Amino acid sequence: MNRFFAEEITDGKAYLSSEDAYHLKNVLRARLQERFEVCDGESKEYIASLVALDKQSAVLEILEDVTVEREPKRDYYICQGMPKGKKSDDVVRHGTELGMRGFCHVISQRVIVKNPGDYDKSDRLQRIADEAAKQSKRIRIPKVMDAIKLEELVRSAPKDALRIIAWEEETELSLKKCLDAAGDPKEVYILVGPEGGFERDEVELAKSYGWQSVTLGKRILRTETAPLSMLSAVAYYLGDME
Ligand code: SAH
Repeated sequence: MNRFFAEEITDGKAYLSSEDAYHLKNVLRARLQERFEVCDGESKEYIASLVALDKQSAVLEILEDVTVEREPKRDYYICQGMPKGKKSDDVVRHGTELGMRGFCHVISQRVIVKNPGDYDKSDRLQRIADEAAKQSKRIRIPKVMDAIKLEELVRSAPKDALRIIAWEEETELSLKKCLDAAGDPKEVYILVGPEGGFERDEVELAKSYGWQSVTLGKRILRTETAPLSMLSAVAYYLGDME
């Protein structure tokens, strides 16, 4: 059954965006009384029947609450040193499937950005998150936040969150050991470097604010592989793949 995120749900009716109305009318050729899944983008899912449709608007009548808890128990955030080109597209897409709650690009010393416009990729990435949320039946759409400087991120991330920075030069702490000691965090921040990695002083700064640097093993992962493998491993360990 096709699924839509409603712009508004009030008095037993769900109102869709004009793009969704267009899609229903011209792509799916939907008919009145046809049934669809509708969710509110926060916590609820419903079966609803199409009661009005034109080029600009679509209205559905809510028939049944079919909410299932699909969201992970914890909030996972991926913070990625801004890579070149479109390498973050897959991180946002697959991170959404894996249950990520939010994503941001991080400006660190080895980030190579040619045009100032590159700093602002969040709108496009948000659309990728919206699509992936629909496809993977997420109830909450992950939020793509504006790019943030590394110093600001490591200072401002909540102190009671589990905050992990992946560093290939870490020799003591593995991800497993870090998680063994993590307890029951409500929020998890995963920070990975851009293609060129982090400077040592950036890792030291993060650690001074309570972040833990971890190794992911002896192989070097790409900037697009590292956050996804970490998110999978952490979610598995903390019981969010059940
Ligand atoms: N500095 C490296 C590669 C950076 S890989 C080089 O150019 O040789 C991009 C990011 O992925 C790193 O900054 C780190 O956050 C993460 N990463 C990749 N492999 C890792 C590993 N084995 N252990 C910990 N972090 C890793």
